[in-house]
Amino acid sequence: MKWRREMIRALRKGEGCYDKKLAEKLSGCCNRVGERCQLPMCPLCVHQLGSSLVVEMLACMGLSSLWKTDLQISVFFATVPGTSYPIGQLDQIDLGSIGRRIRRQYKRLGFPLAVSVVDISLIEDSSGENAPSWEACVSSVVVGLSCDRVTDAIDSVYPQCSMVCEWDLSDLIDLRFMVEPTFGRLIRERRLQAAQLGELGRCLGRYEMPTRYVLTGCRRHKDRIELNPGVGELLGVGEL
Ligand SMILES: [Zn+2]
Repeated sequence: MKWRREMIRALRKGEGCYDKKLAEKLSGCCNRVGERCQLPMCPLCVHQLGSSLVVEMLACMGLSSLWKTDLQISVFFATVPGTSYPIGQLDQIDLGSIGRRIRRQYKRLGFPLAVSVVDISLIEDSSGENAPSWEACVSSVVVGLSCDRVTDAIDSVYPQCSMVCEWDLSDLIDLRFMVEPTFGRLIRERRLQAAQLGELGRCLGRYEMPTRYVLTGCRRHKDRIELNPGVGELLGVGEL
């Protein structure tokens, strides 16, 4: 992946040995079992994480859910208010705290089951009046609520929600891409310069991979997701 190479190059040019360690670990990641770097800014590993989360979520609902036509699935992407940082100050962001806040909000909003990926994007002001700034974003797949219900629910917490739409369970591939990181898109559009790539990689590199996702109504074990008590009954689905 081109932008992965660019991030490695940017980190190698970094000042501290921490940057160089991250760069070497990232460059050593390859698509073989046991040889993943599991760094939270690695496109290979985050891509695999998004795929795994969706597959595990479907598995925990049981195969019969695939034929359950009335199972509502909504997806949305939103920037998280109050998480804006100027370029050069991304080290002040606290992804762990943002994830915990999202978990509390989704519980309060009554989402029965949701898988979310937390990301950091460089947001540009469309008017051009303000400089671009870093901002936390969240992509969520919500099971058990219609698009309208989700739109109403998130209105108070995510006023800058760019998209809410309904999804079909048969669109597994597309659903998987819904929880892909957005920073890859930004880099593909060449909005991120080398210095910003280094800043983003250094920031994400401070975290463990689980910081990148938030689960609602379920918990993740080593390689599977288990529904919390009562969620299967609520959704009318069973375990595999
Ligand atoms: Zn990796």
